[in-house]
Amino acid sequence: MSFLRIEGLAKRFGDFVAVKDFHLDVHRGEFVSLLGPSGCGKTTTLQMIAGFLDPSQGRIVLDGKDITQLRPEQRGMGVVFQSYALFPHMTVEQNISFGLEMRKLSRDVMQKRIQDALALVRLHGLGARYPRELSGGQRQRVAIARALAIQPEVLLLDEPMSNLDAKLRQEMHVEMRAIQRQLGITTILVTHDQVEAMTMSDRIAVMHNGQIAQVDTPQNIYDKPSCDFASVFLGKTNRFEGQAQSRETVKIADMVLGAPSPVDSGPVVVYLRPERIAVAPAGEGGLPGTIKTLLFLGSQWVVNVSTALGDIHISLPNARRAALHEGDEVGLNWSPDDVRVLTQQEASRG
Ligand code: ATP
Repeated sequence: MSFLRIEGLAKRFGDFVAVKDFHLDVHRGEFVSLLGPSGCGKTTTLQMIAGFLDPSQGRIVLDGKDITQLRPEQRGMGVVFQSYALFPHMTVEQNISFGLEMRKLSRDVMQKRIQDALALVRLHGLGARYPRELSGGQRQRVAIARALAIQPEVLLLDEPMSNLDAKLRQEMHVEMRAIQRQLGITTILVTHDQVEAMTMSDRIAVMHNGQIAQVDTPQNIYDKPSCDFASVFLGKTNRFEGQAQSRETVKIADMVLGAPSPVDSGPVVVYLRPERIAVAPAGEGGLPGTIKTLLFLGSQWVVNVSTALGDIHISLPNARRAALHEGDEVGLNWSPDDVRVLTQQEASRG
């Protein structure tokens, strides 16, 4: 039984369709990310779930109750925006208590909620400060504390980490995920950052053109993408068009390669992750090629090899510089299990 069910949600702005045919079932306590490029409809979807935008079509059901027509404050959801939306003339405590005041709690209960929320985001002792007296990361924590203080059933996060620098963002991913687990709070995160979605989510809904292209665990989407968009959007991949020859072989250019094909004939698209390819000296077998470029990225080498299938990108985390040079003749090897093959029709979905 899903806790939050989104059924056939759509949003039109005049003639423009921003979201269409959006279905998602979120379980209680689950962390789900809406991941996709700018303009794919993530924020519009989140705003409809929060109640800030009326859907053109569809229903939102929370714990068995249709909440589509409820006002935002009646939905029991905490929202954290990209801009944090803190009131600059209010202290941290006043910012957090703002959402509680409408709930008519006693002073004692309110004080406890504020202090608990501040402790949760590790901001004890900073309640009397104004937002301008805080760092970006601390402001973001206040916004999270404010959303959590109302003890929401669902936490909605709209790119809350995007204003932080890369290192702080990584720390917040870990911290935010720990808080979410500790509270067991059902959470939906909107992001265009793949790493953010992969590190934090139980499941990711990859969005494209206002629809979900694929929804699954991060690992399943990475290893078994179900359409071209998900394959290319999540991580890097080598993509080839070819023809299935059997359930075990595909032909790309003039070469027949071992690969698990979903069909025994017809056009297919073949995907191979850069880190699944091994580079051997020429003459030791494998697909022959010539190293065109070598890039050192600290934690890995990125190698571009020219082959009969076209240019192939390879990432080698453990390679030593001396082992490879531009212009080297090499052989490329991989396991057929690491090749993903979709029919042309599957690939063009989503
Ligand atoms: P981003 O990551 O850039 O925030 P997004 O995936 O969240 O992108 P949305 O903000 O949901 O995208 O917007 C989806 C599409 O709907 C965009 O093309 C946007 O221009 C359009 N759109 C959003 N709000 C409105 C509006 N009020 N009127 C008209 N078009 C809108």
